[in-house]
Order: sequence, then C-alpha cells, then structure tokens
Amino acid sequence: MQTFEWLVIGAGPAGIASVGQLLDKGIPATAIAWLDPEFKVGEFGTKWRSVSSNTTVALFLKFLDFSPSFDFAACPHHYPLQSLDPQQTCSLHLAAEPLQWVTDRLCQKVNAIKGHAQRLSLKQRHWQTDLGSTTIRARNIVLAIGAEPSLLTYSSPALIPIDIALDQQRLSNHCDTNDTVAVFGASHSAIIVIRHLLAAGVKRVINFYHGALKYAMPLEDWILFDNTGLKGDTAIWARAHIDGEIPKNLTRVWSNTANIEQYLPECTKVVYAVGFKRKHLPITGLDEFSYNNKCGIIAPGLFGCGIAFPEVTTDPLGNIESKVGLWKFMNYLDKVVPLWLKYGA
Ligand SMILES: Cc1cc2nc3c(=O)[nH]c(=O)nc-3n(C[C@H](O)[C@H](O)[C@H](O)COP(=O)(O)OP(=O)(O)OC[C@H]3O[C@@H](n4cnc5c(N)ncnc54)[C@H](O)[C@@H]3O)c2cc1C
Repeated sequence: MQTFEWLVIGAGPAGIASVGQLLDKGIPATAIAWLDPEFKVGEFGTKWRSVSSNTTVALFLKFLDFSPSFDFAACPHHYPLQSLDPQQTCSLHLAAEPLQWVTDRLCQKVNAIKGHAQRLSLKQRHWQTDLGSTTIRARNIVLAIGAEPSLLTYSSPALIPIDIALDQQRLSNHCDTNDTVAVFGASHSAIIVIRHLLAAGVKRVINFYHGALKYAMPLEDWILFDNTGLKGDTAIWARAHIDGEIPKNLTRVWSNTANIEQYLPECTKVVYAVGFKRKHLPITGLDEFSYNNKCGIIAPGLFGCGIAFPEVTTDPLGNIESKVGLWKFMNYLDKVVPLWLKYGA
C-alpha cells in the first residue's frame, strides 16, 4: 500500500498539464503519484502522431512554456516544432516529441508508476486503486484518462479503425483499388480520412454525413466554431474538394436509414469518424457518475480533465462547445486546480 496526497491517472497531454499545475501550485513532488501504462504522451503521442493538427504551432509552444515545473526553458534540445511558423498547423508527432521530454522530466520529479487502474473506490476518505502487486491510496485523484473512438453497430462491412484510417501509411495497407469505403462523419477526422482514402486510390468513397461542414472562423478576440469547425490544411482541402469540386470517386449522402440501406451494402470497408467517448474506469458506489463541466469536480477529492472531462463553455453568440485541445486543458487547469486543492475527500 502506497499513500499519496495526489494521484494523477493518465499521462497524455491532460495528465502532463495536471502534474505540472499541481507542482506549480505548491504540492510537493513527493506527494504526487502519476499512473500510466506507458508514459508515451497518451493517445496524442501514440495513436494520433501522424494526424495533421487542428491547432497552431503557437498553442503547442504556449502549452510547453506555461508551466514552470515543465522546465522547458532549460531543455537542451531544439525540436523541429520550435522552428516552424507559429501560425501554421503541423503533424502531431512534432508536438509529441517535446511533450515526451517534459514527461520524462516530470517522471524524475514525482512518483511515476507504470500500470493501469481497473477500478477506484473510496475508503476512509482516501481514494484507492488496486494494481495487483500494490494498492495506491490518495486523498485526491485527477482522472486524465482520455477517450476512445465511438463506433456504430453495423455488422458489415469490415471495419478500418479510425487510428489506422488517420495514418496515411498504415491505411494503404488496409485498402486497395478495389475497395469502396464508407466513411461516417463530417468532422476534422472524417475529412482527413476521406482525403487519405482518395489519395490511396480506392475505387470509391461514400461519405454518410449529417449537416453542412463547419469551418472555424477567427474573429477579433475569439474564434467562431473553435472546437467543432475545420481548421488549417484540412479546412483548405475541404473547401476545395467537398464544398468545391467533389472528386469523381467521392459520393456524399445524408446519413439516414434509406441511404444506409441503399449504399452500405456496396461498401467493402467502413470507417467510423463519429466522435469519441470517455474511457471506462468503474468507481465503486458511483455507477453512473457525472462531472461538473465548469470545474471538473466529480466527487470530493475526485476530479476530471482532458478529452474525457472537457470544460463546456458558451461562446459570445450562445453556442455551447466542449473545449478540447492542449492549450485549453492547460488554461482550464490553471483556473480549476486552486479549487481542487480545497475540495479534497
Ligand atoms: C485525431 C485527433 C486529433 C487531435 N488534434 C489535436 C490538435 O491538433 N491539437 C490539440 O490541442 N488537440 C488535438 N486533439 C485533442 C486532444 O488534445 C487529444 O485528444 C489528446 O490526446 C487528449 O489528451 P488526454 O490527456 O485527455 O488523453 P490521451 O492522450 O488519450 O491520454 C490518456 C492517457 O491515460 C491513460 N489511461 C487511460 N485509462 C487509464 C487507467 N485506467 N489507468 C492508467 N492510465 C490510463 C491512457 O493509457 C493514456 O496514456 C486531437 C484529438 C484527436 C482524437
């Protein structure tokens, strides 16, 4: 049994930001445990490495520079990210490289433990999780556990997982020129997948969508559709090829029962780009737990952040959006961690 004041579960961008923020706000490194199976910058640093970012290089650099506990100013390496035009987007692996350096640095400071929490429970005002060989107890836990792709339930055709479809190289090993591929969705990910499939030379792509494409639009001091709109290179391509001249081998159909019954049987493969859902981590006594989406509180001493527990805000026009992205996680944690310090179990 190991007991800590704080346990951060997950070492993706949100877990990295959480550890940095706890240290910045004065929690001693020895009082913090950090749990992750790999410490490889989460899904951001593993599954999505080759995806073109929807945020600018400047925001990744802001994230790296924000927390004094990251020591990024003292980093001896100069990463390719730091030489890019700050206003451009980039491949996510370029942001993952310095984040890996920050992770390794933080692992030297706090108690980094490799493992996967299967369940949480509350005993005598301490949260605890059993890792098999050891049990970790903590007065407070931050869940930064990430999300997994949502799926639809059609039994055929064969599924190409979204992480493969978002990686041009891996995708070309999963489809060929005889394939007609169904793509469900019209988000940033869906557009990248359609683009990759067309570049891979598949026979035909059938895109099942709901609603017009949305584009993020920078205004004076805020961005319309900041969290839901297409950005960067992907937006430029979509304007030219989806809202512009549709490629001959791309068919776009409204995603309703009649169209699905008509077109899906023609498809040999399918990609679902229909969003993400929080990873499952059961909590004894809290079967259907929710979180406060303005401050991340789940229960006393139990908090959530990152893509699994995003802040929900209303823009100046009244549109409600979940704020997902590295800089947004950091900004949010800077605001809510002082609250968390007072809301222990
Ligand atoms: C395709 C795609 C592109 C994106 N592009 C951008 C972008 O350009 N810019 C941007 O800012 N954001 C982007 N995002 C959004 C967001 O920044 C990423 O999703 C990011 O990975 C979320 O970070 P996270 O730390 O919340 O989750 P993750 O990166 O998923 O990390 C979660 C970590 O928690 C671990 N974990 C989960 N459960 C447990 C458990 N029970 N015990 C121990 N460890 C556990 C996982 O193994 C993982 O290491 C993108 C997202 C996607 C899906």
